[in-house]
Amino acid sequence: MSFEVRHSDLAGRIGKLVTPHGILETPAFIPVVHPVRQSISPRILRMLGFDAVITNAYLAWKHYGDEARKRGIHKIIGSDCIVMTDSGGYQVLEYGKINVEPKTIACFEMEIESDIAVPLDKPTGFGLEHAKAKEYVEDTLKNAKETLELVNSKDSILSNAINHERYHKIRPIWVGPIQGGEHPDLVEYSAKSLDKMGYELMAIGSPVEVMERYEFSILSEMIVSAKTSVPNKPFHLFGAGHPLTIPLIVALGCDTFDSASYILYAKEDRYMHANGTIKLQDLYYFPCSCTVCSKFTTKELLQLDKKQRIIELGMHNLNVIRAEVSAVKQAIIDGRLWEYVLEKGRAHPKLMDALYIFKNLEIVKDGTPRFKKRAIFLFEPFDQYRPEAERFRGMVSNFKPANTKKLILYPEVDIHPFYATTQYRLIKKRLPDAQVCTYNRFLGIIPAEISDIFPAAHNLSLKNYVLQSRVEDYPMFKISLEMFLSRNSFKEVIVVADEFIKEIIKDPNIKALCTKILDFNSNAISNL
Ligand SMILES: [Zn+2]
Repeated sequence: MSFEVRHSDLAGRIGKLVTPHGILETPAFIPVVHPVRQSISPRILRMLGFDAVITNAYLAWKHYGDEARKRGIHKIIGSDCIVMTDSGGYQVLEYGKINVEPKTIACFEMEIESDIAVPLDKPTGFGLEHAKAKEYVEDTLKNAKETLELVNSKDSILSNAINHERYHKIRPIWVGPIQGGEHPDLVEYSAKSLDKMGYELMAIGSPVEVMERYEFSILSEMIVSAKTSVPNKPFHLFGAGHPLTIPLIVALGCDTFDSASYILYAKEDRYMHANGTIKLQDLYYFPCSCTVCSKFTTKELLQLDKKQRIIELGMHNLNVIRAEVSAVKQAIIDGRLWEYVLEKGRAHPKLMDALYIFKNLEIVKDGTPRFKKRAIFLFEPFDQYRPEAERFRGMVSNFKPANTKKLILYPEVDIHPFYATTQYRLIKKRLPDAQVCTYNRFLGIIPAEISDIFPAAHNLSLKNYVLQSRVEDYPMFKISLEMFLSRNSFKEVIVVADEFIKEIIKDPNIKALCTKILDFNSNAISNL
């Protein structure tokens, strides 16, 4: 298997996954198609921009058996697109036990020439107590181990429909199904075990119920537990097809995700839009201009016969998903995924609540480029935790001033970098030996010497609005200032104080470290 990352931002990445039936550009949404009954055919799905579909191997096995072995899954579903096969584990979740052996399904998946195959797993779902969830994880790991032994064995156990030489050419990418539900220790154990076994693509199972309940925080924790355990392999997320979740899951490092939501929602007359869904009967205007929304009025769509309406609504829903995936990809290229995810967070409080997880998250720091072509936007206190700001403060904590006799702290001005400003030139003229720093509530202390380093010279922050937020909302600034002062033990510290830092130095510990405090006005520099 080959997976090449072309661009990344936060833990999101644009990559290329090579499969036997072509290259899949990620992040990619993989629509679920029923192997027997398809409302929207894989051929149409491809025309709509979906290069891969996922179908159920267990249902194909039950329904087609030898015919599927002979013709292959691509001919059965009528498309030469990339086909991922789920094992049938979800059927366990829906209908209880299923009567098939893991080896039988694995063998079948190879014989029908699946491009991305999942061993028979036992989804933990949501709300399962720890002991029971552990049992499911162990069952899945046992199946996964048996499957990989079968896949790697030289003995021919495959039917005559396929020979080994051919098998090597069309060998599917095997997916390690991570289970454990809302128990992070089990997710971690499951992910690490599958990684060790040699699975190439990791997949997080069971989040459907979590997502149906809009439990985005639990979903994020599940993804982070898995991703942190196996940071470098590509990741799939099962059952994620709500437009609201797409930016979140991509930003946390899910490269592919599948769902039948587009058609399930259509069956319930649910019309997707970028921030959620709405019942068709409550919709007066289409916030979309896809072919469906351009062809009908809301009333006309509602009056179509049920079968036709499901197809049209399904097509529209797919357009919304595709547009969302494209917007996220563009945000990755632009280096604006942080801004995009926060903007999305406004659509639902439970989504915004889940975003706390981005604070100090290693996988997010690792994926964020050290330099971006465009300035980052700093709006609200949470932006002090963006990885670029964290990284900059880390750099400042290692900064060694050439001279520790005198420190001048001067408010950030509109021109970047600070060393190119008139203010800096005037300060240096008066006090050539002083260490001059500017400050920004999101980034902390900015020594003039490194004020051209990203993002010190590449940020745009609100000036008026932020004045309304409280100083206590910026704890990282205080930490950064305290550390800078105590590490460098300046003999003299002169603060040209704007309203923000005036509040900060009310803290007696910080005040004790400052020698002189001047008001920020046009005379400040001549008073130094
Ligand atoms: Zn539309």
